Order: sequence, then C-alpha cells, then structure tokens
Amino acid sequence: MKNVAAMPLDDLYQKIILDHFKHPRNFGKLVGPAIRARHENPSCGDQLDLQVFIDAQHRLGPIQFYGHGCAISQASASMMTELVKGKTVAEAREAIMSFLYMLTGEGEARVELGDLAALAGVKQFPSRLKCATLAWKALESCLEPIASK
Ligand code: ZN
Repeated sequence: MKNVAAMPLDDLYQKIILDHFKHPRNFGKLVGPAIRARHENPSCGDQLDLQVFIDAQHRLGPIQFYGHGCAISQASASMMTELVKGKTVAEAREAIMSFLYMLTGEGEARVELGDLAALAGVKQFPSRLKCATLAWKALESCLEPIASK
C-alpha cells in the first residue's frame, strides 16, 4: 500500500477491513481431523465455521474459516487466522485475550495485534461487538479441550 502515512487513520482502517472482507485469508474448508466450532451472531446474521489443526506440540497448523456475514465479522476472522496460524495454543489464548481487551477493556494486552487494530473503533458500537468477536469466540471453543503447555 502506498502513501499510508498520508492517509487518515480511519480511512486506512476502513481499507484494511474492506480488503480482508473482499479477499478473506484462510477462507474455505479443511479436510481431515481438524477441530471445528460453529458460532453465530443472530442479531446481525453472521455465521462462522472455524477449523483448525493442532499438532502434537500444541501448535496451530492450518486454520480456515468459512461462512458469511458483515464486513466486520469476516474481516476479523480473516485477520485472526493470519495472526494465530503457527502459534502455540498458549500464544493463541494470549492473542484472544489481547483482542478482547482491545474491545472490552477486560483482561490484558499480551501480544501485538497488527492490522487487527483496525477493529478497535468497534468498541464505540456495542451492537457490533459480537460481530468483531465472533471468530475469536469460535477459536476459544476450539482450544477449550486442549490443555495449555
Ligand atoms: Zn455482523
């Protein structure tokens, strides 16, 4: 992206969200014994299936989502999969905590969220919080049965 510095922050954030919405990363279905969780946000109509492989070292391998919904829910899922892919389960939990902290103030900021900062403005719109956190709640469900190392 050129001239990022010249761009007002809101415009830049809008661009990041729309880019992930129109070109979602890690979108599709995985084949094989992945852990799967489906979460829905009926108030907005967002639906999300998350699938993740976790190896013997408790590291997240391929992670994919599919579903449909608003730009915020889909962009959040896309950016989340980019952030946590290759991380350990414990690191992924820290990422979840950090993202929820950004939007709710509860918990702690543990990891750099990168482009996900584009979603920070959602905290001013409580009705959209569930859109932004949908994918993260699904990831939380996927990791739930796995002990931390
Ligand atoms: Zn939504």
